[in-house]
Amino acid sequence: MEQQDCLFCKIVAGDIPSAKVYEDDVCIAFNDIAPQAPTHILVIPREHFRSLDEAAEKHKETLGHLLLTAAELARSMGFAEKGYRVVINTNDEGGQTVFHLHVHLLGGRQFIFPPG
Ligand code: 5GP
Ligand code: ZN
Repeated sequence: MEQQDCLFCKIVAGDIPSAKVYEDDVCIAFNDIAPQAPTHILVIPREHFRSLDEAAEKHKETLGHLLLTAAELARSMGFAEKGYRVVINTNDEGGQTVFHLHVHLLGGRQFIFPPG
């Protein structure tokens, strides 16, 4: 169910344009508007939920699907073997700024840990 005033629900609905790289019944994936790596894709569920903190038993399949989609994109884009990073920022101190759950898929450079 689309959430009013949610940026990513508007992207899912096509009301705000995005550079889509993949979509299926459960999720869409598109390029981040402010990339932090040569490849920076957001994989988001079509269904709105705010954050991982709101995830419940009923989201289990969707959450698994998002991760598998990120892994598949990394493979198909050719950087899986070299390595990549998957990030789910959660709530304010986790650095979340858009409150529609999303998985960041970052690739194409060396990452360090811990992140800032
Ligand atoms: P968060 O900080 O919530 O984990 O990540 C939100 C991400 O959404 C940021 O990396 C930001 O650059 C990206 N973003 C914000 N607004 C837009 C937009 O309108 N289009 C796209 N493609 N990405 C966006
Ligand atoms: Zn939403």
